[in-house]
Order: sequence, then C-alpha cells, then structure tokens
Amino acid sequence: MFTMSHSLYSRRRFIKNSSAAAAMVGLTGIACANQSSGPDHRLGVALLGLGGYATGQLGPALLHTKYCRLAGIITGSPDKVPEWQEKYGLSDKSVYSYDDMDRIADDDDIDIVYVVTPNALHLPYAERAAAAGKHVICEKPMEISSERCRQMMAACERAGVKLQIGYRLQYDPYHHEMIRLAQEEVHGKLKQIHSAFSFFGVHGSNWRFTDRSLAGGGPMMDLGVYPLQATRYINQAEPLSVTAQQINSYPDRMDGMEETIMWQMRFPNDVLTHSIASYAARDNYLTVNAEKGRYGLTTAYTYGPLAGYVNGDDLFAYDHRQQTAQMDAFALNILKDTPVKADGQEGLRDVICIEAIYEAARTGREVKIDMG
Ligand code: NDP
Repeated sequence: MFTMSHSLYSRRRFIKNSSAAAAMVGLTGIACANQSSGPDHRLGVALLGLGGYATGQLGPALLHTKYCRLAGIITGSPDKVPEWQEKYGLSDKSVYSYDDMDRIADDDDIDIVYVVTPNALHLPYAERAAAAGKHVICEKPMEISSERCRQMMAACERAGVKLQIGYRLQYDPYHHEMIRLAQEEVHGKLKQIHSAFSFFGVHGSNWRFTDRSLAGGGPMMDLGVYPLQATRYINQAEPLSVTAQQINSYPDRMDGMEETIMWQMRFPNDVLTHSIASYAARDNYLTVNAEKGRYGLTTAYTYGPLAGYVNGDDLFAYDHRQQTAQMDAFALNILKDTPVKADGQEGLRDVICIEAIYEAARTGREVKIDMG
C-alpha cells in the first residue's frame, strides 16, 4: 500500500519529471523573442480551417506559445475574418482563402500551416502547404486511409518540410507519467490496459456525425485515436493483432458509420488492451494494470485539467496547456532541426491500426497488424 511518504515522493517525482519533459522538448536554449524588446523571431503559424478546435483551442493557445505565434488564417468563411483580425491583430495581408492560399509561398511571415479541417481534407491542404514551402501540422486522425497518410508524408519529404500530427497528449505530463510508470515497471510488469473515450453526440449535425466521405468513419476516427495512441505509447511497442465489435443502436443516424466500437489488442509480452470509442456514452478514462499495482487517468483525453491516480493516491495536478506545448515543441523541432515526436509515422501507424480494427469488426475475425 502507498504510504504518505511514498505518495509525496511520487508527487515530487512527477513534478520533476514534468520539468524534465519540458526540457526534453527544448523549452530552454533558444532566445525567446516575445520576452525581449528585439524583433519577434517566433515562427509564424497560419491556422487553416477556423472551426471549433481552431477557434476554441488553437487560437487561444497561440497567445501563450514562446516559439511560435499566430501569423495568418486560411478560411472559406469570410464572415469569420473580422473577429479573428480583431482578436489576434491580423492585417488583411495575413488572411487567405482556400482559393488563394498558394500565395503563402511568398509570405515570409508564415512558417507553419496548421490544417484543422474535416479529416478527408487533411491531405489536399497539407500537400498545398508543403508545396508552398511551409512546415505542416495536421490534425488527428492524420487522414482517412493509410495510403493517404503515406501521400502526405511523401509530399512533406519532397518539399523538405517537417510534419507534425496534432497529438497534443504526446506533449502532456500526465501521459508522460503513465509511460514512465509502465516502462520503468515501477509497479511491476504491464498486464492490461482498459480505456474509453466517448461523448453523447450521435444526434449532432456536424460532418463527423453525418458525412462519411469527410469523416472516414465514426468515433473510431475522432475519439478512438486517443485510447489507441495511449495503448501504443504506454507499451512503447506495436500491437500484434486485434479483434473488434461495432454497433449502431441509432440506425437512422451516423450515415453508415459506427456509433460505438470496441477493440481488443494483443501486444508483445502478452499485454492485452481493451478500448471503446462511442458517440453514445460519456467515458474518458485510462486504467493500467501491472503485476503489482494499478494506475491510470480518470480524466484522460480532454484538454485538461487531467486527473489520475497511482494505487489510490492522486497524481499531482499539473497546470499545463497541451496545445501550447505541442506547437512550441514543433517550432523548436524546426528551429533546431530535430526529429518531431508526433511525426507522420505516428499518424500513419494509428491509421494502419484503425484499418485493422474496422476489418476485425466487419469480419468478426482476429486481424494481424502489419506496420509495413
Ligand atoms: P469543425 O467542423 O468545427 O471545423 C472544421 C472547419 O474546417 C470548418 O469550420 C471550416 O472552416 C473548415 N472546412 C473546410 N472545408 C470544409 C468542409 N467541406 N466542411 C466543413 N468544414 C470545412 O471541426 P473541428 O474543428 O472540430 O475539427 C477539425 C479537425 O480537428 C478534425 O480533423 C478533428 O479530428 C480535429 N480535432 C482535433 C482535436 C484535438 O484535440 N486534437 C479536437 C477537435 C478536433 P472555415 O469556415 O474557416 O473554412
């Protein structure tokens, strides 16, 4: 059982680890222009697609970044422009439409294009951004097929630009702590992971509930990537095979897409995982079972504050902005020419898994996973 001193030790260790994680992404070492009176050397980010996530999270996060800043917007909705210009002080020259976005090639203020559109539009916009010589951040899921993910990676490679997938939790200290506990076998060998992410959205009118051609699938694509990512990075290994089941208890909704999907994966060393993604539930948890203990996150995948435990003791509450950390890490990857943590391979591997999960659900068979 955890004693008070052990709990305090864990808490200190977690704080220390979180600082180490910040140092690992390099949050020191490059002069931060917005903290000095000199010219602003932060990299310029253009947000492409001013929907819910860009408006509610990414724009505000860019007010706190140290190594990048909002330098432009690319939108198909002229009515959204005045509010963005006013809130972020953007001049007319920093506003682009989808028709004229290729002109950003001549805009030295923009270094990065962040694609925040429906899933099946990630590839064409990422390709255009790369062709304009801009680094690319692409939201999750990377695309709606592994073939399209590969095309995006090839386009970025051809253009010599870096690619990050918007996996904010790869830059989150709570998730780092889950990985540390598992990999250092603090409570013994990893045995099972159970996880779910869902919200009750099945009656919604957004493209993710109504348009398979844009979404590529139901909650597996939208929410399932989080438990899938977590099981992969906590294991630090790739799954070997999967079985899956899907249901749609609202047959008039979701346009042929699943409303709920469950999948079970086998990882090396007999680690088993069971995950659920659904638009007809309200779950958000991660439970890790090891031989000598149990730890996890009770608020696992939302923007924060997250919350977790180790054998019944609370994890330290950490004040952290996921999107700010993610975008600053990418800016530093560009400035220092270092490898991107949540790179295209990460996005591709998840989509390979998703294809196997869908096949398993469709056929009722155990499907082997081949990362190629
Ligand atoms: P929204 O529907 O709220 O916004 C999408 C925006 O894309 C629209 O507002 C529009 O912006 C633009 N767009 C361009 N073409 C189309 C089209 N044909 N149909 C609809 N919209 C179009 O979606 P979200 O912001 O919720 O999601 C966008 C992406 O971000 C998705 O890939 C999603 O998975 C991901 N996401 C990631 C999150 C995370 O935590 N990492 C959280 C939420 C979403 P405009 O009007 O400016 O042209």
